[in-house]
Amino acid sequence: MNKRITTNKIYMDCAATTPVSKSVFDAMTPYFMEEFGNANSLHSFGRDAAATLKTAREKIASLIGSHPSEIYFTSGGVECLNWALKGIATAKRDKGNHIITSAFEHHAHVKACKTLEQEGFEVTYLPVYENGVVKIEDLESAITEKTILISIMLANNEIGTIQPIEEISRLAKKHKIPLHTDAVQAVGSLDINVKTLGVDLMSISAHKFYGPKGIGALFIRNGLKINKLIEGGFQERSMRGGTSNVAHAVGMAKALEEAIKDREKNVVHIQKLSDHLCQRMLSEIPSTTLVGQDAQRVPQINNFCFDFIEAESILFRLDMEGICASSGSACASGSLEPSHVLLALGVSIERAQGSMRFSINKNLTKSDIDKVVDTTKKVVKILREMSPLTPKEDSQTLFKDTSKSKQI
Ligand SMILES: *Cc1c(COP(=O)(O)O)cnc(C)c1O
Repeated sequence: MNKRITTNKIYMDCAATTPVSKSVFDAMTPYFMEEFGNANSLHSFGRDAAATLKTAREKIASLIGSHPSEIYFTSGGVECLNWALKGIATAKRDKGNHIITSAFEHHAHVKACKTLEQEGFEVTYLPVYENGVVKIEDLESAITEKTILISIMLANNEIGTIQPIEEISRLAKKHKIPLHTDAVQAVGSLDINVKTLGVDLMSISAHKFYGPKGIGALFIRNGLKINKLIEGGFQERSMRGGTSNVAHAVGMAKALEEAIKDREKNVVHIQKLSDHLCQRMLSEIPSTTLVGQDAQRVPQINNFCFDFIEAESILFRLDMEGICASSGSACASGSLEPSHVLLALGVSIERAQGSMRFSINKNLTKSDIDKVVDTTKKVVKILREMSPLTPKEDSQTLFKDTSKSKQI
């Protein structure tokens, strides 16, 4: 386990990124200053780098149940999503122009779909309902003769709900439509074996599972026709140009190995912490809801809506108290638009304003979670007292506390 770098802070944002683990860092270090060769060079430095890259690729391939020739290193999740969507869409344009996805994919995915729409593709965004899960019936009725790709994420990054990819795969296979899944949030929590899932393309990103930032991998099933996104040299079997990032590939392979080896242990630990967090948040802070609470979720992501107040204010006050979580309400552009994910679930705009994501990494403890709840309680109380939206007649119920609040 990593030692926490700043011991008095509690990091509750592993869905945004995770620290590089010590063993991953150690595995990477020789490839910066000593074995720094360009994997395309013909001399011994180059050949060593190429051999190291090959080993990393083989390791990743075997960990997800694929062949090394099906693993393509990229700069991370966003590049994988862009490549999968645009690469398949343009390669299969002669077959059709229809893509099916969900209404709450990652921002990069949403934007790439919008771009494709501008270029004449038709995109169906399946509803995800109150629970944050797509329905197979909806998918089935959305499929047409012209459907060339289905792309649905395995676990949502804002609310954690898990999508029925194996069932989706059966339908995709029946109709011979390639299936991509964004598995970025699923690594370390769910089985990401591409055979079990039955996917043709899968995106993963190392920094979400204790690996370095700036490297990801796109699994592309052999035989699937796809165009390249980044033109350049002969790297990645001429499918993705740019000098290979050998150190990061090694780090990613090591991080993936650990994530898969320790998956059960970590899931049990994180699930316990999440259950404790949810139990206390929901029972001790009135007018609070857990988004997607009836659906299956990855254990690390918990998204709460605190009524009558704004998430940014909660975030800044928690930050001042040394607790780092994420507000789920504002989109990346910093506008006041509520999250497209929450809106897709039918959460009201008012409620979505008070959405906070607490994502739990493997290094946290139960007492960390208690401190998070105690502090959040205090912060929510202060903000609600100041908020004009707080219904005054209810203020007793809103703040009434059963027991432990005295000390905070
Ligand atoms: C973080 C994330 C991405 C983007 O990955 P990067 O490596 O940061 O570009 C894509 N999809 C999901 C679900 C994510 O959580």
